[in-house]
Amino acid sequence: MGSVDRFNRPINYLRVAITDRCNLRCFYCMPKHGVAQYVHSDVLTYEEILRIVQAAAEIGVDKVRLTGGEPLVRRNVHQLIQQLAGLPGIDDLAMTTNGVYLDQMAERLLNAGLKRINISLDTLNPIKFYKITRSDKFKTVWKSISKAASIGFAPVKINVVVMRGVNDDEIEAFARLSLDGPYAIRFIEYMPIGGGNDWVPEKFMSVSEIKAQVETIAPLQPVPRTRVDGPAERYRFASARGEIGFIGAISRHFCGSCNRLRLTPDGALRPCLMSDEEIDIKTPIRKGCTAQDLETLFHQAIALKPRRPPVPLRNNMGRGRMMSRIGG
Ligand code: SAM
Repeated sequence: MGSVDRFNRPINYLRVAITDRCNLRCFYCMPKHGVAQYVHSDVLTYEEILRIVQAAAEIGVDKVRLTGGEPLVRRNVHQLIQQLAGLPGIDDLAMTTNGVYLDQMAERLLNAGLKRINISLDTLNPIKFYKITRSDKFKTVWKSISKAASIGFAPVKINVVVMRGVNDDEIEAFARLSLDGPYAIRFIEYMPIGGGNDWVPEKFMSVSEIKAQVETIAPLQPVPRTRVDGPAERYRFASARGEIGFIGAISRHFCGSCNRLRLTPDGALRPCLMSDEEIDIKTPIRKGCTAQDLETLFHQAIALKPRRPPVPLRNNMGRGRMMSRIGG
């Protein structure tokens, strides 16, 4: 039986950040020299994650996404996927990754039961990639994207955070990738969240501006929504293989249809990305709480979901945690 929050929103989606560690240092997400990392014992074990997701499924969650940090830096992640994929009630299992290790792991992940994959890539230029991520792995990520498509992940989504003066000159190049490749390009508004970024309004670009640039290539046709769709507004060019989506988390915030909760690497349930209110689930689980207790904690987290973020468009949302410790 599904759960509904006090604003009548059905809650069926859990984003699970399985680690705070990342092998990239995107300037808008993490400081160059990284941040203090959780020690091993702070982080939920796979067994704990499994129990928590099981409880989530009991209260109506049917969609799970693994994220981080970088989920592929966590050892034997395919084993976790295999177990999650086998949980009754979990119909949709997806992952967001930076793609650096995906080339080597794609088959194992697919065979383990991962259904959908989003790869984050903000530029098609290797030099700019280095400036954004402080890493020279552009070619590897690009190889991963082709590999994911060729072995049957469908769709392969490419997440592009658009920042004015950084990569807005590549909007058309990204959009054109959808013409010949089986890619779903997702243009995402740059958000003022997470303790790691130096968001300024000048770098922000709204999805309507981004869409206007995309439409200079050709008219966009709306794509009908499906049950597992997230907040993206979906379109395609006539006869394109792939599609294009716009995620206006700031200018067109989708709080009214928010269906999600987040589980942080250190075991907190976070009802809203942009609010620091959280419920500790790790302590109870380590003290031996029952499955019923876990479900109660989920209900408490759902009850805490705010109607909308406390403060819109200011650089003081969700500052209590780095993005890598929330799960983007
Ligand atoms: N390491 C994985 C990855 O790179 O996809 C998963 C975690 S990462 C935090 C998830 C997504 O959040 C990435 O697509 C990243 O670009 C996005 N992200 C991080 N900070 C953001 C911000 N301030 N605004 C919008 N998106 C952001």
